Amino acid sequence: MTDPRYDILFEPIQIGPKTAKNRFYQVPHCNGAGHRWPQTMAHLRGMKAEGGWGVVCTEECEVHPSSDLSGTAEMRLWDDSDLPTHRLMTDKVHEHGALAGIQLAHNGFAVSNRFTRVATLSPSGGYGTWIDPIQSRPMSKREIKELRGWYRDAAIRAKKADYDIVYVYAAHDLTILSHFLQSRYNQRTDEYGGSLENRVRLLKEVLEETKDTIGDSCAIALRFAVHDFYDEHLRFDDEGREVVEMLANIPDLWDVNISTWNHDSLTSRFGESGHQEDYISFVKQVTNKPVVGVGRFTSPDVMVSQIKRGILDFIGAARPSIADPFLPNKIQEGRVEEIRECIGCNICTTGDHFTVPIRCTQNPTMGEEYRKGWHPELIESAGSKDKVLIVGAGPAGLECALALSKRGYEIVLAEKGKELGGRVLRESKLPGLGEWKRVIDHRTYMLSQKPNVEIYLDSELTAADVLEYGFERVVVATGAHWRDDGVGRSVFAPIVFGEGTAAVSVEQIMNGESVGGNVVVYDDDYYYMANVIAEKLVTDGCKVTYVTSSSEVAPFTYGTLESGNVYKRLLELNIEIVCGHTLNSASSGLVKVDCVYTGKTRTIKAGVVVPVTSRIANNDLLSGLQNDSELKDHNIKSAEAIGDCHTPGIVATAVYSGHLYARQLDNPVDQRYDFLRENYQAKVL
Ligand code: ADP
Ligand code: SF4
Repeated sequence: MTDPRYDILFEPIQIGPKTAKNRFYQVPHCNGAGHRWPQTMAHLRGMKAEGGWGVVCTEECEVHPSSDLSGTAEMRLWDDSDLPTHRLMTDKVHEHGALAGIQLAHNGFAVSNRFTRVATLSPSGGYGTWIDPIQSRPMSKREIKELRGWYRDAAIRAKKADYDIVYVYAAHDLTILSHFLQSRYNQRTDEYGGSLENRVRLLKEVLEETKDTIGDSCAIALRFAVHDFYDEHLRFDDEGREVVEMLANIPDLWDVNISTWNHDSLTSRFGESGHQEDYISFVKQVTNKPVVGVGRFTSPDVMVSQIKRGILDFIGAARPSIADPFLPNKIQEGRVEEIRECIGCNICTTGDHFTVPIRCTQNPTMGEEYRKGWHPELIESAGSKDKVLIVGAGPAGLECALALSKRGYEIVLAEKGKELGGRVLRESKLPGLGEWKRVIDHRTYMLSQKPNVEIYLDSELTAADVLEYGFERVVVATGAHWRDDGVGRSVFAPIVFGEGTAAVSVEQIMNGESVGGNVVVYDDDYYYMANVIAEKLVTDGCKVTYVTSSSEVAPFTYGTLESGNVYKRLLELNIEIVCGHTLNSASSGLVKVDCVYTGKTRTIKAGVVVPVTSRIANNDLLSGLQNDSELKDHNIKSAEAIGDCHTPGIVATAVYSGHLYARQLDNPVDQRYDFLRENYQAKVL
């Protein structure tokens, strides 16, 4: 039963000639699959529709070969040969009564056309926004006319592919329609440059022509960044607002956000849910058309407030719909506590950056809907009556327990600590990582509802205990710990720390050990831990030098859209950054680091080094359970490691590993290796 307070979220809303069944709107978002893995893309979109989203959109879709995003896998609609891929998506979405939206895009010089080798197009020439040292071509009037034709052709194809909502996209600094608007890129002196009225001309033409072409049967949405952090004028209280005023009632729907993507999809480390409200709240006062916006909304009360306060008509979501495709249905069915809330970590955006299907920390089934047939809410029944002992209640153990309990297995979960959560419990106490605790909260709540799970805290088990209990299946999820000897990617033999300079491990810092004075944080891990520890140490009063073997700070955070904010945070904390240096030795208050290019040694004064280099699996327990005949004697069919104790990694890999074990148990198919590959290239010609 829906709580009547949330009824408003389930009202149908008209968008031009179409009607969405409710206010839950999955805005366009990348998924790393796109045209390269079309079934993967279509099945994950279909899952959102099944989970109750009233509108489900594609990622950006190239309208022409001169807008070639190769290097990432988005959608493509260059000609009719692309239609079957799109129909996979629209059919899947329509199957569940949702509207399907497509985000048409010509990316101008926000692409490098690496596959098509076509010259990139821009308002006034100059380098594009990718790193390629090839300049773009300032568009002639004839080319502008051609471009408008490409948009019209793509709109016709979108209609043929059965989309209900067709986007004109001018956001994220990603399309030519944005580039013409932005005075920093547009120095034209004709009717497409100069005044805002001139700079908005192309966007207006494309919008009106899309409407004229297919607007009788498709709703036309305009996705517009009302605030661009890198533009002097395109701000929500300046030209951003003026653009909305100029185009107010032309589109059937406004999808509004802020630019660039890293500002729009801010991680929880750097911003709170709803952080865009101050920028976008004016839009509804300017237009009569429905407005959708995002804010990593997971709470139905916050959603209702957005609507009642006149900020939004539709609750837009990318990440909350990834973490929980069934969020709308859970609200509708009165199961709000079961929502798997997004933690704002942006592992999902790494799929796009590294050109692999999307992954999610909270939802291990994301991206696996087609190739492994995984469903976020449904799982096969137990294949036996075996009882399962899971040792360790970090993200891997918790997820494994939850998924196995859903299958119907009898589970005992034993945890050494006084609380559930393992590494996530500890890491969520570090600066900016508080929301990560949702990984534990969701699973703890769900497990509390399961009659077939017994949880024992404060219960450190030995191999002898495990053998004595004799559960048929044993899962070892005892995690990993950070090394304190410097060994990692760049240092292969332990560093001996001499008198006067101590190594303090990440574990000691997380355990609350106090550190003072000058500290070197050495990052060989390349993600968040080293910079979060540096931030903590500065807050605790230390003077920190951040040394990394990489040529840039925390390169993995490029994938999570955080690298700019990580740099900014370190620099604002007056942390000195030394890139491209490896740890050599440390003693007598001096830390020696070597340049990775020249070998030249540099000396830094510091009494403490925190090596954030690599972790060692906690597999003492597992090693006591390796004797097959001993296991057999105790009626134990298998003892296997999962999560960080199997292979140290990120939280998402631990959750996935726990889930994989649960899917795998008593299942003859080895899902690690055996899945549908969509390997079209392998067809024999
Ligand atoms: P993962 O990320 O793989 O889930 P974590 O390090 O987060 O790993 O969690 C491992 C959990 O296992 C920790 O909560 C730790 O307290 C617990 N643990 C480690 N050894 C034992 C043991 N022998 N008995 C019970 N619990 C253990
Ligand atoms: Fe949210 Fe992280 Fe999942 Fe992305 S990966 S949807 S940010 S929990």
